[in-house]
Amino acid sequence: MKTAVFSARRYDRTMLARANASARHELRFFDDRLTAENAPLAEGCEAVCVFVNDVVDAEVLAILARQGTRLIATRSTGYNHIDVAAAGQHGIAVVRVTDYSPYSVAEFAVGLLLAVNRKIARASVRTRDGNFDLDGLMGVDLHGKTVGVVGTGKIGVIFARIMGGFGCHVVGYDPYRNPAFEAAGARYVSLDELLSSSDVVSLHCPLTDQTRRIVNAETLARAKHGSILINTSRGGLVDTESAIQALKTGQLGGLAIDVYEQEANLFFQDLSSTIIRDDIIQRLVSFPNVIVTGHQAFFTVEAIGQIMQTTIESITAFERGEELVNRVPPA
Ligand code: NAD
Repeated sequence: MKTAVFSARRYDRTMLARANASARHELRFFDDRLTAENAPLAEGCEAVCVFVNDVVDAEVLAILARQGTRLIATRSTGYNHIDVAAAGQHGIAVVRVTDYSPYSVAEFAVGLLLAVNRKIARASVRTRDGNFDLDGLMGVDLHGKTVGVVGTGKIGVIFARIMGGFGCHVVGYDPYRNPAFEAAGARYVSLDELLSSSDVVSLHCPLTDQTRRIVNAETLARAKHGSILINTSRGGLVDTESAIQALKTGQLGGLAIDVYEQEANLFFQDLSSTIIRDDIIQRLVSFPNVIVTGHQAFFTVEAIGQIMQTTIESITAFERGEELVNRVPPA
């Protein structure tokens, strides 16, 4: 099937082509992210394959539908970047990757926590410059601390298990209880209790109307003083300006984010020779107790291999008129 692949980095091209070896779909790769301006590049492609920062809103979907697109396949779990209702109105099916190594993201969240707590990135920069001083690098033992997990699905449960192994007390908040979370020795509490009791809060819920800016001035004020916030989920979960205020007062003791509300204009590209106009991200990276990574939590050999395999399988199933097991239900 003729498929336009947007936001195609070198690893996307290599790994998707490998997964496509026997299916032999006609893949057309485009470096740029999908927007209304470049949607005509997908003319005649029945399938369009996208990633998290591609624009798949009503306007883009209308253009794609006119050009013959009938399937959107996102190489991600989250699909908040796709207007599923508009896709349904145009008769376009949407598929995602429901299952790929949740270990990739959970392990990365733990890595961010260790890095921000023990100042590992700062220490590494120092030693490269011949500075072996320890002043300013003191962290705390995680053993015995309370870790709050917001969203106890696949990734949240694995994160909880790992933190249990560190000897942490793990508490969680989720409107739907997951027995695997409690089996990991963790217990459910209200969001209020989670915020007020946790030394570390890690976000693992999807971005929805209910969770948008779940971390804001008001919830940060209710959090335990000096707690650390980890976000590997979606940037829109955090009101970044409020987080900056909380960092300035010390209410937030550390922040590590792999996702950022305005990441679409920044992430997945090399901007090191340009002037970055986003003052919020510039302010964030100026804090010694903040770590920002560019949406890389999923980026392991295992996860990417599964993402590409599932994406190709979905396109093949669609072409054959088979059931789409990874279909996002029409809104
Ligand atoms: P999942 O669907 O297995 O789990 C999500 C959990 O969040 C569910 O248990 C759900 O009930 C819960 N939830 C829904 N609304 C909530 C609310 N209002 N408050 C608290 N919890 C709520 O998903 P997952 O595979 O564990 O992935 C979690 C998120 O991680 C994804 O939605 C995605 O945004 C993010 N993610 C990030 C990366 C990355 O590279 N940074 C990669 C993959 C996924």
